[in-house]
Amino acid sequence: MAIHVGARHHSDEFDLAKLASTILETVQSPVVLWDAAGYPVLFNGAAIELFGYSVDVFAELNRSELIHPGGGGDAMRFATANPADGDAEQHRYRSVVITQRTDVLDVDCTSVRVPLQDGSSGVLTEYRNVTAQLAAETELARHERLYRGLVANTTGVVFTTGSDNRFVTANKTWLELLGLSIQELRGKTLAELVHPDHRARTLATREERNAGRNVNSFVLPVETSNGGCIWLDLDLHSVLDDMGQLLGMQGFGHDVTDEHEERERLLEEASTDGLTGIANRRHFDEFLSQQVASAIRYRTSLSLVTLDLDHFKRLNDRYGHPAGDEVLRTVAQVLQEVARETDLVARHGGEEFALVLPQTDEAGALMATERCAEAIRAAEIPHDGQTLRVTASFGVSTFNQAIHQDSDGLLEAADRAVYAAKRAGRDAVRTAHSEAA
Ligand code: GH3
Ligand code: MG
Ligand code: MG
Repeated sequence: MAIHVGARHHSDEFDLAKLASTILETVQSPVVLWDAAGYPVLFNGAAIELFGYSVDVFAELNRSELIHPGGGGDAMRFATANPADGDAEQHRYRSVVITQRTDVLDVDCTSVRVPLQDGSSGVLTEYRNVTAQLAAETELARHERLYRGLVANTTGVVFTTGSDNRFVTANKTWLELLGLSIQELRGKTLAELVHPDHRARTLATREERNAGRNVNSFVLPVETSNGGCIWLDLDLHSVLDDMGQLLGMQGFGHDVTDEHEERERLLEEASTDGLTGIANRRHFDEFLSQQVASAIRYRTSLSLVTLDLDHFKRLNDRYGHPAGDEVLRTVAQVLQEVARETDLVARHGGEEFALVLPQTDEAGALMATERCAEAIRAAEIPHDGQTLRVTASFGVSTFNQAIHQDSDGLLEAADRAVYAAKRAGRDAVRTAHSEAA
């Protein structure tokens, strides 16, 4: 760095030494001009303040006494180096110094080679005390490490996405659950991870928007890398910048697969008949009410078939209760095979069954019922070397809001039709109005 003199001035017009000392005193940062042996030529008040010595003591001090044995900079090497060695004219380095108060300070130094009057080289060094800044940086680095550990060590799932919803970071728990590496996860979206077999279930799960907090909570079926399914209870926070623009998402979750499967099992158990494995009365009532509501709302047809096995008491008495149970299981299985996927087959009572047939009019329901009757008639139930056979009486009713009003009305109509079939000699099918006729 050179010193330049303005065009209207000449360097020989003023006392440069006096001017230099004035400038040194004006400069805010500590500055010392050292001679080649390391003794001060000039120094300013800020330097005295930094190193803590009195002016008299500092004036006699050698620079080496300031350098901390553990971390000295190389100003002296620079001072004694030959410029021809290729050293830069200006030299920046970090050093550790000891003050008179025996404080250890980190300082950033900028040194410039200065030719002295006797022809030797001096070094003008400007010091900047960076002790507090370094301590803060070290503390921050420590905390960053702790903070990263927090995410890495949590047993919960933690991840972030960008504003395009694609994953950016993920903790070990999340990657291990998925069986993916971070490279494989990046670029994917959460929606892409939803298990295809359970996509419909996601819609049915909890989804709350927490006013003001921009948090969505839900239970999500997630496909793992081997095609398995895990259930993730997830809070998804939207993170906005100061302008309200979406920066990305933060996900916090935990694996609830075990709890989910247990709940599913209990639900299944609560809605299934223990003997036959088909829907029980509770499930039937719920399903029929839903279907009646839907038939009213969408003006679609809906039929109900109820059936009661014929002379079942006799069968029990003759072959024993376990044989009766086996017949009930067989009938349930036969009805399931005949029914369509959208129909519900339920055990409605002891030896009474019911079929709910959505979007089916009376003609369709009668056809389905005849198929059921035929299948039950054809069923052979082996027992003690003999073959048991059974028949049933069927009642069919098709929903008409004006007549039935609700699911109870529809069920009563079907039950009345069953009695009509019994009266007609059993192994018969009757509709609600054929019974009324
Ligand atoms: P109907 O043709 O008039 O229907 O004659 P039924 O003998 O079938 O008469 P009803 O429907 O009144 O009799 C039902 C019988 O079903 C009585 C009961 O012992 C038998 N039952 C009910 N639940 C079970 C069961 O879980 N297992 C067995 N084995 N029998 C049952
Ligand atoms: Mg009965
Ligand atoms: Mg019966």
